[in-house]
Amino acid sequence: MTEARGKLRGVIALDGPSGTGKTTVSRGLAVRLDAAYLDTGAMYRAATLAVLRAGLDPAGPAASAVAAEADIRVGTDPSASTVTLRGEDVAAEIRSGPVTDAVSVVSAHADVRARLVALQRRIIDDVLAGQVGGIVVEGRDIGTVVAPDAALKVYLTASAEVRAARRNQQDRAAGRGGDLAATLSAVRRRDSLDSGRALSPLRAAPDAVTVDTTDLDVEDVLDLVFALADQRGLVAEVVRSSR
Ligand code: C5P
Repeated sequence: MTEARGKLRGVIALDGPSGTGKTTVSRGLAVRLDAAYLDTGAMYRAATLAVLRAGLDPAGPAASAVAAEADIRVGTDPSASTVTLRGEDVAAEIRSGPVTDAVSVVSAHADVRARLVALQRRIIDDVLAGQVGGIVVEGRDIGTVVAPDAALKVYLTASAEVRAARRNQQDRAAGRGGDLAATLSAVRRRDSLDSGRALSPLRAAPDAVTVDTTDLDVEDVLDLVFALADQRGLVAEVVRSSR
């Protein structure tokens, strides 16, 4: 087997529901492409944590204001992703059960989305204008709203059962949760909230390439997306080595 590496120019947008392998693929791709990486879900999670810490109802207008104004910063190094809320490292806490349960409600508020999308676009523009020059961005609305001009848009899917099993395994590895039936129903609930909301619903962009990861492992998906980027002329200095 050979593994390809290179240097990305431009934006790769990776969207899809939870448990499709989006984060692993996006980070791995950014490493192979010597590119930056932006996890937009982490930003919505940090906004949600701010709401929960303030003791607010995630659906209410006060929550919307707190989430929209929260001081959230995310790093773009794929090997060491960081997320802070008011300067505090919250990388672990944003993956907790309460945040996961409330995030789809908080992320449906219009002013929260407006603020975070503006922040995301600024981060992308800074990377494109700088030395790194390429960025892999993952989320739900990257190809449709955040970066509609992205040179490559990929929409990852997988069956709900497989996605729940993957989530379950990750949770167990992190010492959380572990009940498969509960994870499956949480995955279905989040799918339906994220796809059913009025604003920027989870959807494949018309020009996205859809990849079903149900029967693929991470390396397969990485190779496939790398090849798509290469075919579109987005990758310079391609080097292939055996792995
Ligand atoms: O990707 P992750 O599972 O961490 O995303 C958490 C939640 O954040 C999603 O379920 C969705 O409600 C919200 N989100 C969003 N738009 C994005 C990224 C995430 O609404 N671009």
